[in-house]
Amino acid sequence: MKKIQMVDLRSQYLNIKPEVDKGIQEVIDSCAFINGPAVQTFQKNLEQYLGVKHVIPCANGTDALQVAMMALNLKPGDEVITSSFTFIATAEVIALLQLTPVLVDVDPSTFNIDPKAILRAITPRTKAIVPVHLFGQTAPMEEIMEIASKNNLYVIEDNCQAIGSDYIFDDNTTKKAGTIGHIGCTSFFPSKNLGCYGDGGAIFTNDDDLARQMRGVVNHGMTIRYYHDYVGVNSRLDSIQASILNVKLARLDEYAAKRRAAADFYDKAFANHPKLTTPGRYSKSTHVFHQYTLVTKNVDRKALIDFLSAKEIPAMIYYPVPLHMQKAYLDPRYKPGDFPVTEHLCETVFSLPMHTELDQDQLDYITRNVLDFLKS
Ligand SMILES: *Cc1c(COP(=O)(O)O)cnc(C)c1O
Repeated sequence: MKKIQMVDLRSQYLNIKPEVDKGIQEVIDSCAFINGPAVQTFQKNLEQYLGVKHVIPCANGTDALQVAMMALNLKPGDEVITSSFTFIATAEVIALLQLTPVLVDVDPSTFNIDPKAILRAITPRTKAIVPVHLFGQTAPMEEIMEIASKNNLYVIEDNCQAIGSDYIFDDNTTKKAGTIGHIGCTSFFPSKNLGCYGDGGAIFTNDDDLARQMRGVVNHGMTIRYYHDYVGVNSRLDSIQASILNVKLARLDEYAAKRRAAADFYDKAFANHPKLTTPGRYSKSTHVFHQYTLVTKNVDRKALIDFLSAKEIPAMIYYPVPLHMQKAYLDPRYKPGDFPVTEHLCETVFSLPMHTELDQDQLDYITRNVLDFLKS
């Protein structure tokens, strides 16, 4: 059996090697390393795939979030509501811009932000909501957009984990995750669903004014060459990464189907197990399974992960510490117990290998070993 990895980038690369190598070589031959034709093509391809008016490539997902927030002209002390159960980058950029992160709890089944909790967190200083489409499933965007419009708030979607996921509205129309709010942000970190071979990111919007503003922010606040109208940053996607992304974007739906097939197999193997809860499938979103995350009950999680590790099965905890209990983000406003769902998840979840190249032998071996451990 092939060695099992959380994400098997090497096997995936070997399947697309001729195209990827050709694209990289073309960039080197052209020496158009920054903002070359590959970047322009990728921008167009992604706009078309997402059905969104503007894609602004940038250097990584964290920058995408920061640039989005810089474009909204928020003032220090303005409040931004986000999920207490996410990767740190979401709250980090809020803090860096001297805005105030306001955390809210999540739904125990989908792990996504709870709209009822958002409503309770709104104050006169609230300016924006940042829903995170965690682990590959879109947050309840219809409810979130309604809350935002009633309260005059911006919505920035952190879509670093759910590119390609479809949100299904009440009238059965669909939109791609990241294109429903005012701005969407994504990451092309190698292990993401659409990953390059280094760092990369992008911002999406249907709003012409916000697009113009963000194109300036990523380019030193420059609108006309060497005329700087506001303080910006330097955040670019390079041409080599864009050439790789062009190859992988063409396969993104096929890759999502492979992830879903692996998830379906896990779901069946663990269905109705007294010690495991399989990831909830939200009826209004397709799932692209950035992670396959189980909730344990009465299980020594560390012993389980050590047992799997001894069998050469990697397993990870996303995420072990809620945002309000991270050392850098300790805040007198919050104390342990404030976000019971998030705190419970941080103590009980674990994620199994999830990628586009898992084969049946590997899936059998993984599920058999998890079930064997739980018997003991
Ligand atoms: C990966 C990730 C980010 C940050 O992306 P980078 O490209 O690593 O900067 C932000 N938010 C979430 C939810 C992520 O998973």
